[in-house]
Amino acid sequence: MYIKDFLIEDTAKHATLKKVYRLIYDHGPMTKADLQSITNLKHTTLVRIIDELLMNQFIHESGFANSSGGRPPVLYEIVQNRGFIIGIDISRTHTSIALLDLKITIIEKYTFSMTRVHTPEIVIQKIIDTIKHFLQLHSIVSNDLIGIGVGSVGPLDRKQGLILNPDSFPSTGWNRVPIVSSLENEFLVKVLLENGANTAAFGEYLHSSNKGHDILYCISGVGLRCGMLVNGQVVQNKTGVASAFGHMIVDIDGRQCICGRKGCLLSYTSLDSMKTQILEQIPTGVKSLITKEQSISFEHLILAAYAGDEVVKGVILNSAHYYGIGIANMINSLHPDQVILNGPLIYEYPLYYEKIVNTAKQYIFDSYENAVLFSKGSLKEDAVPIGAAALLFNAFFNI
Ligand SMILES: [Zn+2]
Repeated sequence: MYIKDFLIEDTAKHATLKKVYRLIYDHGPMTKADLQSITNLKHTTLVRIIDELLMNQFIHESGFANSSGGRPPVLYEIVQNRGFIIGIDISRTHTSIALLDLKITIIEKYTFSMTRVHTPEIVIQKIIDTIKHFLQLHSIVSNDLIGIGVGSVGPLDRKQGLILNPDSFPSTGWNRVPIVSSLENEFLVKVLLENGANTAAFGEYLHSSNKGHDILYCISGVGLRCGMLVNGQVVQNKTGVASAFGHMIVDIDGRQCICGRKGCLLSYTSLDSMKTQILEQIPTGVKSLITKEQSISFEHLILAAYAGDEVVKGVILNSAHYYGIGIANMINSLHPDQVILNGPLIYEYPLYYEKIVNTAKQYIFDSYENAVLFSKGSLKEDAVPIGAAALLFNAFFNI
């Protein structure tokens, strides 16, 4: 039996089998006695279930537990490479495709930049070709692929599996993109679509040792995105949009935003707005390494800041100040116990991260001030595909 058929079956008889498998997945290696104390199953039933899982090589005997006299009890663990999952990250700057095993460990990953030529058709075809290449490279038969998790920029129609009309993609054509059916038809597996900020939050949650269960996760890239977990579960808003966070007003008389309003967070923090803020200062006589003609990336800003460009440094820190206010507003309304930040400036320019955290702490309502833990994402750019794969795996269970 293939593990994907085992996972997809949803009968009552099958439920106990899946429950035991999931317990071993979450808590293994563990003994029969451990399982019995959690499940309260009859000994004979448990023995039969374990035999069936062993026979199908979904679990294996991984050693022995310490004995309290007599024969040491056998430990059981899931077979990590009994099946494989694909995790995908579709963002405005890049698309990543990762091959992962059942313990959500990345085996292989391929990333390409999104440019003006990357229409949905081309991106979907590249995703399909990459998955086929991965399977071939690792001699994986298509039946051992259990599913595909996609973390994408929204808005999304999760029910119909569509990426609706995300803004600021370099290429045209990103409108009602049938990402789920395209991949389902090609690979005949379960495909899950979720907002990338949410999948990243979930990926970090699984890997975090702090185990805050209510997590606010913010990505500052070309735009701003934020995802939220409550009790370790993704909070799904109706539209699948994570970018609305960037249009939170932080100064009602503030800078002009691309959305037409004034003082949105994005009008201080986006890459474009930072470039505009730098250029605005140049006619006043100050010197900067950034020129009007160049198209800039975060790398340019970081290099200029490290080279001592005071204009660039000032703009980056001003952006961090407003970002901190935006995060404080979110903390005051949602009360997360952990805030995780991701983005090029977060990782590459420590003063940016410090300024955000210090400003946020200044504006957090008193009683929450010490209740929130700030950190940088530990998975960096892998958070989105890892989380997408993990959510796909969980979708086979009633969690
Ligand atoms: Zn706006």
